[in-house]
Amino acid sequence: MVPVDLFSDTHTLPTAAMRSAMANALVGDEQMGEDPTTRLLQDRVAELLDTEAALFLPTGSMCNKVGVAALTRPGDAVICDSMAHVLRFEGGGSAVLSGVVFEPLATEKGWFTPDQVEAVPIGGNVYQPRSALVTLENTNNFGGGTVWPIDIYEAVCATARERGSAVFTDGARLLNASAASGIVPSRWAASVDGLWIDLSKGLGCPGGAVLAGSAGFIAEANRFKYMFGGGLRQSGILAAAGVYALDHHLDRLTDDHVRAARFAEGLAALGYSVETPETNMAFFDPTPVGLTASEAVARFVAQGVRVSVVAGRIRAVTHLDVDDAGIDAALAVAAGIAAASANSTSG
Ligand SMILES: *Cc1c(COP(=O)(O)O)cnc(C)c1O
Repeated sequence: MVPVDLFSDTHTLPTAAMRSAMANALVGDEQMGEDPTTRLLQDRVAELLDTEAALFLPTGSMCNKVGVAALTRPGDAVICDSMAHVLRFEGGGSAVLSGVVFEPLATEKGWFTPDQVEAVPIGGNVYQPRSALVTLENTNNFGGGTVWPIDIYEAVCATARERGSAVFTDGARLLNASAASGIVPSRWAASVDGLWIDLSKGLGCPGGAVLAGSAGFIAEANRFKYMFGGGLRQSGILAAAGVYALDHHLDRLTDDHVRAARFAEGLAALGYSVETPETNMAFFDPTPVGLTASEAVARFVAQGVRVSVVAGRIRAVTHLDVDDAGIDAALAVAAGIAAASANSTSG
């Protein structure tokens, strides 16, 4: 039954039906706005998020770069949570490309409060950077695949606006947040200036992401897309995967959440310390079974269960290519690791 790849939801392989949709896509020159399938995907995402416009980009990381560029000027400050992808995992890209500084806020689960935003100087005078942008990550990856509580999300957005800041949501897994909370995607979009969804994670596409917002925001974003080298040609081949995924892979995201919950419950029963999953990520700590995170990961990987150390604990991510049998197999491996560790410490 092993191997089971719980490393990331980016590890999905396109299904035969998705490949066939890609192979049959109508295409044209995207840079000239003439790729019909890319335009269709953009319309579909704008409709889903109820925004005026949307823009296909090669990656989610580029959505963050382009979004920050469109909503700031050099020397501005960007508020985010201290483990945010845009700050920690993009090679310092927004510092280089947009000349911004970050104001990281300490959080437990990746979401912060209006009071924390208020505590950051508004600035904008000759000495202090202007607090120009607040970015929210939903779900929050390193916080545990957590969903922002909608009331706090909306309160943070309102506070940001009162301070004259723009608001931007890194929605790499926004559709997981919607599946888990029942909050429709358009509600997460309504209080921000820009946001995006990734196609290459829970939706199971081989690449691509879609940025959305007002027509003015998207026009400015398009300028930076080309400036940063993100203009494409016959991108309809990738966009077709996105359209296919919106039609066929959206409703099944809750299956991933159910499997992450089941994996977490199984681990807890085996004595691992587990954070209750909110979406498709199970974070756990093997200390109670006598192993460090990196020792345990090495044993899981050696037995065909690919997991990783993320922010000091172990992360397992469920996705399209992990079924119930995969979860059973991963739990059997977890049981063996816990038992072997107990034998070696008692002997
Ligand atoms: C994966 C991820 C990104 C980057 O998306 P890519 O499509 O891999 O470039 C950005 N933010 C978060 C929260 C992510 O998990």
